Amino acid sequence: MTVLSSEERSWGEVLSVDRNIDSVNLGAYAMEVEDPEGKLSLTDLVGGSQKKKWKRIKGTTVNHGFTSSVFFIKVSLKSRDTEPVDTVLEIAYPLIDHIKVDFIRNGHMAEGYLFGDNYPFSARIVAHRNFIVPVRLTPGESVDMVFRVKTRSSMQVPLTLSSEKSFIQRSQLQDLCYGLYYGIMLAMVVYNLFVFISVREVTYFYYVLYVCSMAAFLLTLNGFSYQYFWPEYTWWNEQITAASIGSVVLFAHLFTRKFLDLPGWKPWINQLSIYLAVFLFLHLTVCFIVPYNVIIFPVIVIAVCMILLSLVAAVVLWAGGYTAARYYTLSWFAMLLGGAVLALNKLALVPRNVFTENALQIGSAVEVLLLSFALADRLSREKTVRYDAQRKALKHEQLARTAQAMALELEKEANENLEMNVRMRTRELEVMNERLRELSTTDSLTGLKNRRYFNEIYYREYNRAIREKTPLSCLIMDIDHFKRINDSYGHLLGDECLKDVAQTIQAQLMRENDFLSRYGGEEFCVLLTSTGEEGALQVAENIRFCVENLQVVKNGESVPITISIGVASTVPVHKKNAEILLNQADEALYQSKALGRNRVTLFDSEVKDVLSEPRPPQIYSVVTPE
Ligand code: GH3
Ligand code: MG
Ligand code: MG
Repeated sequence: MTVLSSEERSWGEVLSVDRNIDSVNLGAYAMEVEDPEGKLSLTDLVGGSQKKKWKRIKGTTVNHGFTSSVFFIKVSLKSRDTEPVDTVLEIAYPLIDHIKVDFIRNGHMAEGYLFGDNYPFSARIVAHRNFIVPVRLTPGESVDMVFRVKTRSSMQVPLTLSSEKSFIQRSQLQDLCYGLYYGIMLAMVVYNLFVFISVREVTYFYYVLYVCSMAAFLLTLNGFSYQYFWPEYTWWNEQITAASIGSVVLFAHLFTRKFLDLPGWKPWINQLSIYLAVFLFLHLTVCFIVPYNVIIFPVIVIAVCMILLSLVAAVVLWAGGYTAARYYTLSWFAMLLGGAVLALNKLALVPRNVFTENALQIGSAVEVLLLSFALADRLSREKTVRYDAQRKALKHEQLARTAQAMALELEKEANENLEMNVRMRTRELEVMNERLRELSTTDSLTGLKNRRYFNEIYYREYNRAIREKTPLSCLIMDIDHFKRINDSYGHLLGDECLKDVAQTIQAQLMRENDFLSRYGGEEFCVLLTSTGEEGALQVAENIRFCVENLQVVKNGESVPITISIGVASTVPVHKKNAEILLNQADEALYQSKALGRNRVTLFDSEVKDVLSEPRPPQIYSVVTPE
């Protein structure tokens, strides 16, 4: 089909092609027509009469950002070679939805191709992440390539025409660069994931997610993910771009929030960072419903806000001496620098080369590496802080232990002192008790044991006599007419007499177990163990005799002293009525008094037991005083 006459063909500058062609950016030769309604067809635009509709493109690449318009782009080639020239046309923006290329060869409509990520990957002529068309020019042939582009992604159509050789060489280098880049990203992801699993620090987790998102975004942007991961899922491929940008910004933000500890700053910074995070999260949830070209703008605005906030925070922290913030700031600058170089490249302000073409990847790789350094720096700093804290804690613990040991030592010493004091006090108390007991059981005047003590001894000896079936005798004695002595010679002499009588009685007790006590005022009591009636009467008589012969002199005058004694004796059988022996002795004493004093009376138990009426006891001896 002939659509153009030969003279109508020359609209713009024509690219002369020969076999030595290297690699040409077709932007310099491209003309374009915007079709806002999307109603124009190829025939509306070709032909000499339509010439005025075509405009030279601005810059070196077709770039209109996000637009709903359809764009027609035309590039004219002419072979000046004598041989057929095989070239490769590359449209290096894999996110374009639809792109139709029509070839007009020597004014005749020739072949046409349909590309775009709205078509399955398998439909491509060359299985390449970018859109590739082999173009053959016969000697002297004029070829017009007309592209009809419609896309919801950014309207960018970077066109390159290369020789096959140059294309292969460039692809190799490009793939090596990409391989390096994704290798670094993968290494960082795996390494930091392990660090996260080992240290359980959530910052690492955000970092890993950030790097994954960044890699996913660039894989999509470069067309790798469509080629290798989901070559049939056109809808998914479209939405994943917005989702990956959203998650890049979200995780970069969450990472920064945790890394720079934004919540610890001013409340409004914390609030702002929370709003940003919430918005980004919401974006992620709706980005699969809302069209890509609608959702992408707010994300870009938020990303700019977030980068500004992070950079300001990082610079402030850096100025404050936080070394990890230095790596952080540098890393973001690296990323921004990469973006800036790419932008300058696209604006043709810096030359197109491998470095400038891949500036974003390089910046991003440097950023990811520096962020990893920043994390390591932070970890090491935290480790140092923890180590210092541990050392301090250890020192404190040691001090506490020493103090505790000292306290224990003091306590031990105090306890020992206390114990010693207690022992001393106990000993003193024992001595005092002993003395008190001594005092409480001793009669102070005569030095004899008192009646209380006598009672103790009495019951003890009474029980022993029961056990051993031995006789026990008791003597109760009373000085005769002692009141008179007191009255006549005074109490002092009375006391002297009492002492003398006590000594006299004691002197008559030969056996070790014979026990004498002061029984009352001028009364004495003697307990004779293992002694029967006979022995007891003998002792009593000795006492009576000695007291009678006692020489007490007052003012040259001899003071007469006699004593009356009651004797009772028994072999005790049972504990009941133990005091009966004392009563019997007392009764016998009473009889001695009644019979005239200065005598010994034995209580006759046999007769007493039989008779109901008390019978006067038998008098053993009677000594009448002079
Ligand atoms: P009897 O022959 O009937 O025993 O007559 P008595 O005067 O000895 O008996 P009485 O019970 O009437 O008096 C006892 C006196 O002994 C009365 C009291 O003043 C005196 N006396 C008691 N204890 C002491 C003492 O410790 N020292 C002195 N000096 N006199 C005492
Ligand atoms: Mg008396
Ligand atoms: Mg008396």
